[in-house]
Amino acid sequence: MKMLPTVLANLFSKPVTRNYPTFVRDPFPNARGELVNDIDRCIFCGTCSRKCPSQCITVNKEGGQGIWSLEAYACVSCGICVMSCPVNSLSQKKTYRPVGTGRVTVTLTGKLPEKPAKKTEKPAGAKPAQPAQ
Ligand code: SF4
Ligand code: SF4
Repeated sequence: MKMLPTVLANLFSKPVTRNYPTFVRDPFPNARGELVNDIDRCIFCGTCSRKCPSQCITVNKEGGQGIWSLEAYACVSCGICVMSCPVNSLSQKKTYRPVGTGRVTVTLTGKLPEKPAKKTEKPAGAKPAQPAQ
């Protein structure tokens, strides 16, 4: 008998769930949705690929180009890659990718960063620096 008011209230109220994707809820603050990569900032370091718990990011370097790929529907929107990217090229929209029935691979290509200048060799016969007295 104690549960009767709750049972009656639920019987005559609307369901709390939505008929997704027909009805999509408004995004809430700090929602972590679709992953996007600003490929012009990406340095193809591969950190996101190594940190991703779903293993859905692949980073390759071929023919002087960097290739960044995402298995879009394998992403669980955890945000670990966004937090670990050293150049902040990754971000997440507040909204989610529209539902689909097939596999979606997002592939982005960009220019590899210039390599850091090589350490200059010492000239032949140069003496090591003497400690100051
Ligand atoms: S997105 Fe960020 S972490 Fe991933 S390869 Fe590019 S620079 Fe590295
Ligand atoms: S948000 Fe999480 S699951 Fe999605 S690509 Fe980044 S690390 Fe992987």
